[in-house]
Amino acid sequence: MKAILINAPKEVSLREVPTPEKTAGDVSIKVHGMGICGSDIGAFRGVNPLVTYPRIIGHEIAGEVLEAPLVDTTLMPGDRVVIEPYVYCGKCYPCMNKRTNCCENLKVRGVHIDGAMAEFCSHPLHLVHKVPAGVSWKRLAMVEPLTISVHAVKRARLAKGEHLAVTGAGPIGLLAAQYALVIGAVPIVIDPIDERLAFARSLGIPFGINPVGENAVDRIREITGGRMAEAVIEASGSEAAVRSSIDYVAYSGRIALVGWPKGDVSLPTAMFTKKELDVVGSRNSRQAFAESIDLVAGDKIDVASLVTRTISFEEAPAAVREIAAYPEKFLKVVALL
Ligand SMILES: [Zn+2]
Ligand SMILES: [Zn+2]
Repeated sequence: MKAILINAPKEVSLREVPTPEKTAGDVSIKVHGMGICGSDIGAFRGVNPLVTYPRIIGHEIAGEVLEAPLVDTTLMPGDRVVIEPYVYCGKCYPCMNKRTNCCENLKVRGVHIDGAMAEFCSHPLHLVHKVPAGVSWKRLAMVEPLTISVHAVKRARLAKGEHLAVTGAGPIGLLAAQYALVIGAVPIVIDPIDERLAFARSLGIPFGINPVGENAVDRIREITGGRMAEAVIEASGSEAAVRSSIDYVAYSGRIALVGWPKGDVSLPTAMFTKKELDVVGSRNSRQAFAESIDLVAGDKIDVASLVTRTISFEEAPAAVREIAAYPEKFLKVVALL
């Protein structure tokens, strides 16, 4: 079969590779929709220490069932599915506590093991989610990124009526802000690129702040009537944004860190104590696929607008190179097959 393979950092191409062997318990899938993620770009750049090479990329995958395990009675050939790409061990401490998204031995497709930006993939039955017919492959490729945002909002324990400050108006930040609207909270997006803030407003996100041109702390104080944001999601990985999250959050508030900073970030932990903050990590997603599928299928969250460009499978290597060169030009690129 054909696959999009990174042979070594900076070397991406469409290659002929062996079709994956289906093991008992796996579902064989014909792949149709594939989102290109920042982590795929990180694998291309060679900056993600978890990635080994050669590596087939791709973990934002939608497709149709070719064959399901005999024991399964829920999936039929032709059914549309999305894959949950985090393969966990089931035995370690976090797994035993149902925190499978941060399994000690986690194998994420396209990172630790081969991804599914390919004609076919084979994936464990319990990590394959059926989706309603009639939802486009383009939108279905956005389900996995949406689960990351839904998980982050849950980790931040955001409630109706509260303010959510989101640092970083990339796909994860914008999806988290849209999900905040769904649950009746008030999102405030903070990003240094004005075009992204304008785009956020076009999605119905009421507040956008450019922290370079404006005093973000003063603006958030104004918007929240002096309280500051009850919850903050850091979705940029920028060291400055991680640091600022402590100034944006309310006393007794919550911060969920989703972005991956490149290095250590120095923080005034006395402020954690003074404000009695809950600062939590948020990694991948856990039990968020069913809800995210409903949000996409029911059009409760506009995922299609986040797709900057739709390309053919053959165009994927060139797209990876272009996104790596001009990351600010793209929110999400989806390849269709
Ligand atoms: Zn992703
Ligand atoms: Zn585990």
